[in-house]
Amino acid sequence: MIPPIANRFVAGESPAQALDHVRRLNGRNVTAIVNLLGEHYEDRPPVRSDAAAYRALAGDIARSNLEACISVKPSQLGLDLGEDVFRETLADVVGTAVDHDVFVWIDMEDHTTTDATLDAFEALAREYGDDDQYRVGVCVQANLRRTRDDVERLADVPGKVRFVKGAYDEPAAVAYQQSARVDREYKALLEYAFERYDGGIGVGSHDQAMIDHAIELHDEYGTDFEMQMLMGVRETTQFDLAESYPVSQYVPYGDRWKSYFYRRMTERNENIRFALRAIVGR
Ligand code: FAD
Repeated sequence: MIPPIANRFVAGESPAQALDHVRRLNGRNVTAIVNLLGEHYEDRPPVRSDAAAYRALAGDIARSNLEACISVKPSQLGLDLGEDVFRETLADVVGTAVDHDVFVWIDMEDHTTTDATLDAFEALAREYGDDDQYRVGVCVQANLRRTRDDVERLADVPGKVRFVKGAYDEPAAVAYQQSARVDREYKALLEYAFERYDGGIGVGSHDQAMIDHAIELHDEYGTDFEMQMLMGVRETTQFDLAESYPVSQYVPYGDRWKSYFYRRMTERNENIRFALRAIVGR
């Protein structure tokens, strides 16, 4: 059972609870990116079990007629066990999702996984996608020095790309360390994508300056995009934006919610204040 203070960031332990949350979001014009919490599995049973859960979830989404897709983590689908395990498991999940007409996002983990993740994404995007319909998407991180090259490489791949600042503590050899530098990079990446991509841009940020920049670029180039934000973060803004632009909320669920919840808690002082208010009841 998830305690009330974590409910803000996690939709529940079961897929049914996650889809109830998605139903409420859809009622407010926001679509959902549903993620089963889990990462860094070192043996096969949890990999198989989460892959089966995603395949079942794709079926549930299709039958429920909800506006939702799924997002998977490479190390949840076996990357720590080897690239071949990851690619095989991901291909299974994507194959089933395509059968159900459900879109699959691939989250990006730390820089040691970038090549394997982009290679797996590109292969599946080319196998299942075409100019009329994208079936898979991948996340790229503005803090990584390599990302400008990656974003150029992805320009002609028939899939979506989510742009984020990057959530992992990375060494200076591979990543910008100053937040102002990451912000500049994020804006430059968006400029490239809005000018060159045919659409399929996910703007994964809660930062108003990044959101405003994306809207300006959309006005200038007309390229399709969607705003993407996390469950529990700036939700009023999400609902306000959804009146004018496509907005999708990243909705985590599952019984491994503790580490995700504590990560959100330690990221922002305002979240800690929120948690304390919930505990002391004021
Ligand atoms: P920041 O500069 O961090 O924040 C700007 C403002 O947003 C803050 O001042 C605050 O007001 C608000 N804010 C931001 N975060 C929070 C929070 N947790 N609680 C409350 N307020 C907050 N990273 C990856 O490395 N790989 C991924 O696959 C990935 N997928 C993501 C998917 C989505 C849909 C989103 C929204 C983020 C994802 N991220 C991922 C995380 C991302 O890299 C950033 O760490 C995170 O979004 C914070 O950066 P920001 O752009 O929101 O800006």
